[in-house]
Amino acid sequence: MNIHEYQAKAILKEFGLPVSRGKAIFSPDEAEAAAKELGGPLWVVKSQIHAGGRGKGRFKEAAAGEKGGVRLAKSVDEVKEFARQMLGNTLVTVQTGEAGKQVNRLYIEDGSDIETEFYLSMLVDRATSRIAFVVSTEGGMDIEQVAHDTPEKILTFSVDPATGVMPFHGLKVAKALGLKGPLAKEAQDLVTKLYAAFVAKDMSMLEINPLIVTKDGHLRCLDAKVSFDSNALYRHPEVMELRDLTEEDEKEIEASKYDLAYIALDGTIGCMVNGAGLAMATLDIIKLYGEEPANFLDVGGGASEEKVTAAFKIITADPNVKGILVNIFGGIMKCDVIARGVLAAVKAVGLQVPLVVRLEGTNVEEGKTIIRESGLNVIPADDLDDAAQKIVNAVRGGK
Ligand code: ADP
Ligand code: MG
Repeated sequence: MNIHEYQAKAILKEFGLPVSRGKAIFSPDEAEAAAKELGGPLWVVKSQIHAGGRGKGRFKEAAAGEKGGVRLAKSVDEVKEFARQMLGNTLVTVQTGEAGKQVNRLYIEDGSDIETEFYLSMLVDRATSRIAFVVSTEGGMDIEQVAHDTPEKILTFSVDPATGVMPFHGLKVAKALGLKGPLAKEAQDLVTKLYAAFVAKDMSMLEINPLIVTKDGHLRCLDAKVSFDSNALYRHPEVMELRDLTEEDEKEIEASKYDLAYIALDGTIGCMVNGAGLAMATLDIIKLYGEEPANFLDVGGGASEEKVTAAFKIITADPNVKGILVNIFGGIMKCDVIARGVLAAVKAVGLQVPLVVRLEGTNVEEGKTIIRESGLNVIPADDLDDAAQKIVNAVRGGK
């Protein structure tokens, strides 16, 4: 799960990390009040969307003006004017895709006098099964580009969970960023607190780009992007409250209500599968036969009839879906139960597109018979290969 920059900064602040003062607002009047409260003399008006690259982004609407999604303002009036221009309009950045994202809230923040911009991020490194730090002097830029052009300017290290973060980790960061004296001490303190926040909140990613040195010689987190491990959200109700549904895909929200793992994709074949491994294999084989999947949908091990129906509704609600492939392995769930669930779902939702069903596992013959004798226009398949070819043929209008 992702959150907005201002929410991420509030969490960093709780852990004693240096962030600027600021206020999230929803209207130009609130922007004016926030600007007065902050007092200036420099403010930054920052679009809050779940995507980076806002500063260099561009609004689609002419009324939003020529500037990007992060704007420096020198007066209260200017803050209000920027708010009027940006709110409700669509910001396109390298991370939003062409469609862009509507800006519904802004963060009005104290302007900082920047001496230097650095890059710092943390993530769970699967290769080492540890939390890793990524640090670079090349802040405020596209880190992927830095990694490609000048990989020597990036320092990566991971922290042993048995010891936790140690003073030498902070020293490494200070050295990589060329910080000495009091600033090196601040870097050490920063690394310790960031690690504490990351672990305590079950984050999966934390990116501070830029981390700055101010003109008066202090470190400050000027941007903050945080993702949380969805599997750990149950123990963070306070984080769940930060969820902004307007930033998420409607179908993914609906799926999460039924505990379905659903990811919308760009293709034409809707997939209903149990188990993430089988789901991946299904996506792969659809591609192998030359079509693209419309989604990734894992109904899980104990898919009930209610879950299967919800999954069908979500898949058929996508106008891009030209055919559906059900690929289910009946292990704990028996194939005949699954077959009845699929048929009930088809009857409840109605079916406008071809449907291929491949069942395997316990009571498979019974399951196939139920499908065959249903009188519904369902194409049975024998194995994964057969199923993929049949659905690809069907969406291409073939036999
Ligand atoms: P994004 O990464 O989405 O473009 P940032 O928050 O990193 O958004 O802002 C872009 C740039 O704007 C930063 O690299 C920094 O130069 C400037 N900036 C952001 N916040 C402030 C601030 N509070 N004071 C001064 N400059 C800022
Ligand atoms: Mg940034």
